[in-house]
Amino acid sequence: MLAIDGGYITRVLQDLVRINSVNPLLDPSAPGEREIAEYVGAAMASAGAQVRYHEPRPGRVTVVARLRGSKPGRSLMLNAHADTVDVGGMDDPFSGEIRNGRLYGRGAFDMKGGLAAMMGAVKALADAGSPHGGEILLAAVADEEYASLGTEELVRHYRPDAAIVTEPTALDVCLAHKGFAWFEVTTRGRAAHGSRYDLGIDANMRMGRVLADLDALERDLRGRTPHPLVGPPSLHAATLAGGSGLSTYAAGCRLQIERRTIPGESREMVTDEVRRLLRRQVERDPSFQADLEVLLVREPFEVPEDAAIVRALTEASTTVLGRRPAYVGQTPWMDAALLAAAGAETVVMGATGEGAHAKEEWVDLASVHQLAGCLAEAALLYC
Ligand SMILES: [Zn+2]
Repeated sequence: MLAIDGGYITRVLQDLVRINSVNPLLDPSAPGEREIAEYVGAAMASAGAQVRYHEPRPGRVTVVARLRGSKPGRSLMLNAHADTVDVGGMDDPFSGEIRNGRLYGRGAFDMKGGLAAMMGAVKALADAGSPHGGEILLAAVADEEYASLGTEELVRHYRPDAAIVTEPTALDVCLAHKGFAWFEVTTRGRAAHGSRYDLGIDANMRMGRVLADLDALERDLRGRTPHPLVGPPSLHAATLAGGSGLSTYAAGCRLQIERRTIPGESREMVTDEVRRLLRRQVERDPSFQADLEVLLVREPFEVPEDAAIVRALTEASTTVLGRRPAYVGQTPWMDAALLAAAGAETVVMGATGEGAHAKEEWVDLASVHQLAGCLAEAALLYC
């Protein structure tokens, strides 16, 4: 097995956590990803990789380090987001303090631990004389926590055969995650003085009908066959706003719906579901009027167990961990879906810890070191 430099990985992770890389779209005072990208770029260049920067928007920097192998072979991208969510309520968000084998701070778990492991894997391969084939691409991307500017830009420039996203999975191998669709429904009424029932049309009451049918749809989703790794689909009425004053009939009511999708459900399928629900309102009451807008759709992700990258990562992890990793699914959406949609066979594996988006966040250092070993061995097997 390749030698993994645990001391290097711990130092790098501590440095990464000490660099503020809060996503500026979540906190306007945050600096963005330039500093952390330059840190990763400098470290990977001194390990022997070729480094390139991408800046889809000013200050939103993604770095890609390329380590060519010593023989022809496949290309593998290791992908981690370098941005974090905000630090509201945290005592010492950039401490990088180590206690009892845990490294603390914003992003330690989600997902600078994964990024440090990737850097440790590239360094191990470089130190061993790049015995792999093809090439390894290490990508530390911007903006995953908001709109995935970084990976969206990346898939326009790189076409790796496979990708491993190192979002935390407690060293299990994640083969699927959910997607989501955001919809906005606006019911139309007619404003009138509150005493003039003969003139007013109440948009809020009409939205009530929509909500009742959405509630029935939500129960129906629960009855459908769940996905074996990510469970059933779901939806919720996330925000609701209608009316302008007590003595006025509401002219409009706006509802934002989030529909969480499972592998096999497409954008068209879930949009049609809502469209049909609105059409039924018109059938019942021809005066019913509503508009539907699709705000954002992120596809679910799934990779088969027998995909070459899954087999390589499973074999590598079994060797490094001394146990066969479990195959799991996760509910949150990840950049994995974008890489898979761009044609890279993609799988997810990351470190152990707790506190993603919470007030106390930590990652287990031993799991970060082990993850580096799994990634490096998988690269040797796959590339
Ligand atoms: Zn994450």
